[in-house]
Amino acid sequence: MSAVALIRGRAYIAGEWVATGTHLDVLDPATGERVGRVPRCGAEQARAAVDGACGVFEQWRSLSAIDRAAPLHRMARTMERREEELATLLTREQGKPLAEARGEIRYAASFLTWFAEEARRMYGETVPAPSADGRIFVLRQPVGVGVAITPWNFPCAMVTRKLGPALAAGCPLILKPAEATPLSALALAAIAEEAGIPAGAFSVLTGDRADAADLGDALIGDARVRKLSFTGSTAVGKKLLEASAATVKRVSLELGGNAPFVVLDDADVDAAVAGCLIAKFRNAGQTCVAANRILVQDGIYERFRDALAQAIAALRVGPGLEPGVQIGPLIDRRAFDKVHALVADARDAGARSTVGGGQAEAGGTFFTPTLLEDVSADMRISREEVFGPVAPLTRFGSDAEGMALANGTPAGLIAYLYGRDFSRLVRGYEALEAGMVGVNTGLVSTAEVPFGGWKESGLGREGSRHGLEDWTELKSVTVALD
Ligand code: ADP
Repeated sequence: MSAVALIRGRAYIAGEWVATGTHLDVLDPATGERVGRVPRCGAEQARAAVDGACGVFEQWRSLSAIDRAAPLHRMARTMERREEELATLLTREQGKPLAEARGEIRYAASFLTWFAEEARRMYGETVPAPSADGRIFVLRQPVGVGVAITPWNFPCAMVTRKLGPALAAGCPLILKPAEATPLSALALAAIAEEAGIPAGAFSVLTGDRADAADLGDALIGDARVRKLSFTGSTAVGKKLLEASAATVKRVSLELGGNAPFVVLDDADVDAAVAGCLIAKFRNAGQTCVAANRILVQDGIYERFRDALAQAIAALRVGPGLEPGVQIGPLIDRRAFDKVHALVADARDAGARSTVGGGQAEAGGTFFTPTLLEDVSADMRISREEVFGPVAPLTRFGSDAEGMALANGTPAGLIAYLYGRDFSRLVRGYEALEAGMVGVNTGLVSTAEVPFGGWKESGLGREGSRHGLEDWTELKSVTVALD
């Protein structure tokens, strides 16, 4: 068992654990207590991180794929061995139930394992040339120094989903984790250091919300950085895409989902409710793949609604570290107020909250699991992600009407579809405008799946072999023989 301390109060820059003059408190969203303190970094630290990354790039990319894979495998094994410590830290700074946090640690480690394996399959191509004495080869080479900006809802998995492919492809990575959850990111840096990732190949710059734009500007404004990978809100993603245009960086964006969850009238009600609970209430509804619009066909509406209402009323709310809890607190007051405002707006516009509807008994940022009925497509709650434990139900008639409702937003990350008739399901998943579709399942996230969205939900894919390709550039080599 390794003795390396996982709780770190310093940023990790070019192989050094660095303090700055100012710091930020990391709070437990369940209690408001301080979990730790991390430095506020700025442009100076950003520059040092880019210097470090550039300094190690040549050495890192020149290693064999097996040698790049080895420390990634070691990191994954350490995460698995220390799952309980990492999960506890994650729950303390993020709030999700401990069982979910354990699942996230395993999920996060799976990206490191997957990309360690994929590193060995970064194949190129040989293309038949148009003339007999020509040869064409296509190589895949690392895109260069990368920057990752990650959100707070999956403090470990969103990091490893970017770190794994970046390092596997040969790219050093500079991470700016979300201000609410920097401790999990720093724990990963400690594990990376111990696993033998060389200085500069992975840096972590912590900062407050007020530092995010400065850090972002410094990193994205630096022409030496060749790729940005961002997961977060659509609004910030659009800004970063614009900022990246100045140096034409490669950009991967994983943005808001506003996912439809379509229940056709021949669906298995119990399976649809079970899938809906996962898709809607995991992480208290704070996921970009959360079912945001639950669209239910006339013929099954009452049965589905009654079963879902019963299941929602039975969900246990409380601090994530308490055994048996299924719904933790929302991340902060801003998040709580937004959920509250969207529910109030829907009610004002004619929706009814038939289960829950406001703050939970636990107080603070705990929100009662809520069922909203009579929700229509023009309400704010159908157009914006609620990012909370609120299930809005909308009724529809024909399959075509259901698909039109599902597709009627600028988002296109994921859609869920429940039913039994094979032909209807096939027509349904082919019609859905989304990068991912879950058919009779409420959970699609695994390292094997190309994760990413259509339309305004983003650019590029993470996970799968495509996730590795997104950290590479193609180089064609055309050769003329004598
Ligand atoms: P949320 O509203 O869920 O916090 P955000 O998109 O605001 O989602 O945040 C996701 C990540 O983007 C966080 O790490 C945050 O600090 C960062 N971020 C927010 N604003 C900016 C910005 N202007 N430049 C760079 N990063 C930013």
